[in-house]
Amino acid sequence: MDITFWGVRGSYPVPGAATVRYGGQTSCVEVRTASGESLIVDAGTGLRALGQRLAREHGGKPREHHILLSHVHWDHIQGLPFFEPAYVPGTQISVYASLAAADELKPVIGGITRHEFFPMPLESVPAHFEFQEVEPGASFCIGAFEIMPIALNHPFGAVGYRITADGTTVAYVSDTAPFDLVLHKRHFLSGLEPLTDDDRAALGAMKASLVDALRGVDTVVYDTHFLPHEYEKFPHYGHSTPEHGIEICKESGARCLVLYHHAPSHDDDMMDDLAARYAKTGEDQGLEIVTAREGMVLAIGAPA
Ligand SMILES: [Zn+2]
Ligand SMILES: [Zn+2]
Repeated sequence: MDITFWGVRGSYPVPGAATVRYGGQTSCVEVRTASGESLIVDAGTGLRALGQRLAREHGGKPREHHILLSHVHWDHIQGLPFFEPAYVPGTQISVYASLAAADELKPVIGGITRHEFFPMPLESVPAHFEFQEVEPGASFCIGAFEIMPIALNHPFGAVGYRITADGTTVAYVSDTAPFDLVLHKRHFLSGLEPLTDDDRAALGAMKASLVDALRGVDTVVYDTHFLPHEYEKFPHYGHSTPEHGIEICKESGARCLVLYHHAPSHDDDMMDDLAARYAKTGEDQGLEIVTAREGMVLAIGAPA
């Protein structure tokens, strides 16, 4: 199984001269088995190039596609209307997401193609879309992939996914804050209220389930949007730092941590510095740390 990074940014796309090496498209990865089964996780603007590649591969013939969404913030869905296979008649596209982040999936996702925003409404798109609700802790299979959704701490909720295939496991953990502020049930502006005992218990349980879900996982792709000094200013945004990712990976015994969902303000020079620094930190701690860049392909279960 391998994973290809089609978009590695959080918040909004920033393609341009300052981001050519790490890439400017937003969150989207593809996981593929050795036999060529494909699973898409998140549908940020990186999905556009992936769609072009899939359409080319399939020679314009209709296929089935499966897209797991972490949540429905713009940077995780904005590529959907530009997914080329959606315009091939007979194509079937199943979208999986947790309702924690949306009242109803179809109107929310269909809403991004309302006539005010986009020339073709979801109902008129040639592909057939299907929406499936996922629940943290409830595993399911798509072809050769066994998938377990994991609850995350993000404004109005997000889910990570543990994905097992080809005898190995990768986890996609984006977006999430660390587990010391309640964000998953609230708007971020109210995330800074003092914690109650119930809040503390709920956050502790959420962190414990995440660590448990990641036990035995080979590679963990983690939301490390902020550097520690940036996180101090915006703890209520719902994102983590590499230090938070390292802590979770050490506790669960993962082999490799991939830094992901980079802040749009981190240009290539800053990313080079950050990548080198955390690779060294990882070496010192017995954890391989890789920084995601657009176009990168990682073999799961093997050192990079
Ligand atoms: Zn995001
Ligand atoms: Zn988000």
